[in-house]
Amino acid sequence: MDISVRSVTKRYGTVTALDGVSLEVQSGSLTALLGPSGDGKSTLLRVIAGLDMPDLGSIAIGGNDVTRVPARKRGIGFCFQSYAPFRHLTVAENVAFGLKVRRRPRAEIRSKVAEMLELVRLTEQAKRFPAQLSGGQVQRMALARALAIEPAVLLLDEPFGALDAQVRKDLRVWLRGLHDQLHITTLLVTHDREEAMEVADQVAVIHGGRIEQVGSPLDVYDQPANDFVLTFLGPATRFDDRWIRPHDIVVDRRPGPGSRQATVERVVAIGFEVRVHMLLGDGDRIWAQLPRAEAAELELTSGGRAWVRVRQVGAELAASGEAAGL
Ligand code: ADP
Repeated sequence: MDISVRSVTKRYGTVTALDGVSLEVQSGSLTALLGPSGDGKSTLLRVIAGLDMPDLGSIAIGGNDVTRVPARKRGIGFCFQSYAPFRHLTVAENVAFGLKVRRRPRAEIRSKVAEMLELVRLTEQAKRFPAQLSGGQVQRMALARALAIEPAVLLLDEPFGALDAQVRKDLRVWLRGLHDQLHITTLLVTHDREEAMEVADQVAVIHGGRIEQVGSPLDVYDQPANDFVLTFLGPATRFDDRWIRPHDIVVDRRPGPGSRQATVERVVAIGFEVRVHMLLGDGDRIWAQLPRAEAAELELTSGGRAWVRVRQVGAELAASGEAAGL
C-alpha cells in the first residue's frame, strides 16, 4: 500500500513539529526518515499511524484518505525503540497478542505465531519469557508481533536504537532481507545515516520539521539539495568556498592542472582510510580521505608538501549545491 502525506503541519503548543510536510512512499518500498533528534521524525510516524492528528493536511494509505480514521483501523504494524514486552507472557504469547485482541480463531493464531517466530528466528525461544532474551531478540520479537496482524504498512521508530553497535549492524542487514521477502511498505525512523543508507530504497531527509530532500541513498549523498543535507549525510570539507566530500579531494606529490599547493599537517590512519589534514597557501584548512594503499604510495608526512584538486564528481556535487542556492 502506498502512503501519501500531503502538506501536513503539526504543532505542540508553540513548537511546530511538522511544517507543511509532503511525502510519497511507494507500495512495497522501504523509506528511511533520516534527520537529527527532535526534528519531527517520530511525529510524522505518529501522524501516519493515527496516534496524533495533523493540524493541517491529510494522510492517504492505499489511495484512501485516512486522516480521520482511528489508528486501529489503519492496518498498521508498529515497532518502537522503547518497546516494552509483556514480561509475564512468553515470547509466543507476546507475538499472539494482537491476534487475540482481534479475536482470531485459535488454530489460526497458533499457525500464525509459529510462522512469525520462524521468520524472526525465535522458534526455539517460543516458551521463554522476555527477561530471558537478548536485546536483539526482544526487538525481533517486537517485529514478529507487529507483523503477525498482517499490516498493510510497517512503521519502525529507531527499532534498534537501544542496541549496541554490532547487534544493530547485524539486525539492519537482517531487516533488509526480511523486507525483500515480505515487501511490506515500511517507514523507518533513524538518526543514523549509515543505517538509512544501508537499508532504505528511498531516504527522506527531515530537518526542523521540514523535508529537505527525498531520493535514493546515492542521490541524496551525491546530489544533496542544500548545505544541510550535504553535511548531514557525510563528511565534507571546504575547498575554494565550496563543500566537497573529502574522498573527492585528489592528493598528489606533484603539481597538475588546477591543483593547489598545500602543507600536510597531520596524517591519521583509521582502519581502511587515511585522513590527511592540510593547510592551503591562503590559510584555509582542508582534509582529504584516501584509501590506505594510496596514502602509503604518496608517502605523506607532517610538514611535507602536496598538491590538491577536486575530482570531477566533487565538482558536480558543489555545482548542485550552488544550484540549490548555497
Ligand atoms: P524526532 O523523532 O525527530 O526526534 P519528534 O517528532 O519526537 O522528533 O519531536 C519533534 C518536536 O516536537 C520536538 O521539539 C519535540 O520536543 C516536540 N514534541 C514531540 N511530541 C510532543 C508532545 N507530545 N508534546 C509536546 N511536544 C512534543
